[in-house]
Amino acid sequence: MPANVEYCQPMNPIQADVPLKPYTTFKIGGPARYFASASTEEEFRAALDFARRERLPIFVLGGGSNIVVSDRGFSGLVVHPSRQGIEPEDAGTSERILRIQAGEVWDDVVRLAVKEGLWGIENLSHIPGQAGAALVQNIGAYGRQVADTLESAEVMSLRDGRVRALTAVECGFAYRRSIFNSTAKNEFIILSLALRLRKDGQPDLRYPDLQAHFAARGPAMPSLGEIREAIIGIRDRKFPFPREEKGGNAGSFFKNLLLGEEEFAALERKVQRNFGPRELDRLNEIRRRSSPAPIKVPAAFLIEICGLKGCRGGGAEVNQTQPLVLLNQGGATADDVLALAGHVRRTVRERTGATLALEPELVGFTREEIANALGSD
Ligand SMILES: Cc1cc2nc3c(=O)[nH]c(=O)nc-3n(C[C@H](O)[C@H](O)[C@H](O)COP(=O)(O)OP(=O)(O)OC[C@H]3O[C@@H](n4cnc5c(N)ncnc54)[C@H](O)[C@@H]3O)c2cc1C
Repeated sequence: MPANVEYCQPMNPIQADVPLKPYTTFKIGGPARYFASASTEEEFRAALDFARRERLPIFVLGGGSNIVVSDRGFSGLVVHPSRQGIEPEDAGTSERILRIQAGEVWDDVVRLAVKEGLWGIENLSHIPGQAGAALVQNIGAYGRQVADTLESAEVMSLRDGRVRALTAVECGFAYRRSIFNSTAKNEFIILSLALRLRKDGQPDLRYPDLQAHFAARGPAMPSLGEIREAIIGIRDRKFPFPREEKGGNAGSFFKNLLLGEEEFAALERKVQRNFGPRELDRLNEIRRRSSPAPIKVPAAFLIEICGLKGCRGGGAEVNQTQPLVLLNQGGATADDVLALAGHVRRTVRERTGATLALEPELVGFTREEIANALGSD
């Protein structure tokens, strides 16, 4: 099979058999049958036309930091947005809008906003991936989420190549959720987004780690730069940022639980019965710190009390400091990762009754492979 099978534009061939491993932060996975990097609307449409003609499924790949690619790869067309660029625009005396191309590095957006004195996304510092993908799971950290600042998104329909603008309401944001990973999954490519940021914002230091960091300095308000620096430091201590030389990971592998009163009461009973009063006290402290409803229970707490920190399978390991993260300790396969995730899910379910949902998207796996490894929901 030829390496380059068709041209979107002279500079943008659709390539065949492209290894996806280097495009992921896990550094795991087989090849894409076809791969197209696209920057202009014409290039995206050419890629969509190719997939339609060849009857191929499409996967939109950003920075590859929230996916696990099957060892057998993806037997369709991977489309990779490559256009970068951030344009600041005045929006009255107290706000500015940043217009951002989907292929921009998310953390470069945060760095620029902080440098320009713009408030709203500083708590989302040091999250890997592209800016377009930030909308897909509505990235969140330290009490903030990208939905808080979204003005609009420009999207292309995968069906007919038409481009339209969506408001934040139309994006249907919730915890780690938007229409792009739920009701309209596989319907749109996000081409660009506009964020509305404040020139005169206030720090959001609700999270204990941030409070502790700034406690020593008394009532003086930290600057945007200090908040960004603090978050980068805290995250680097807890959360291994994937770097070439160190294997890899896909960030949090499991979502936190959002429980109603009855579900929480059932969890309380299980924790009391299987783990005793000390862990029950910790669970009740989590409840006191959570907003009233739904009650947010960290998946890391459940993984920890089940004794799964440091648990290994093949080259994959549950991270010691932040057990939400599964690590590729070097040489892990996607099957190792899925098997370990299945073990964590089954153990947590047996001992606490809670079912953990996966955060990264599984790419190229069959339904049967997923059900065999993870069990049913
Ligand atoms: C060390 C580490 C820390 C992390 N910390 C956090 C955190 O604090 N909070 C958090 O929310 N997440 C976190 N993540 C997860 C991840 O970084 C985010 O979800 C990020 O937004 C994914 O971006 P990406 O470009 O890598 O997307 P990818 O992994 O490439 O893709 C993720 C999903 O988005 C879709 N997608 C990508 N680009 C587009 C587009 N342009 N149009 C349509 N669909 C698209 C893909 O098809 C896929 O479904 C972390 C990950 C790592 C590795």
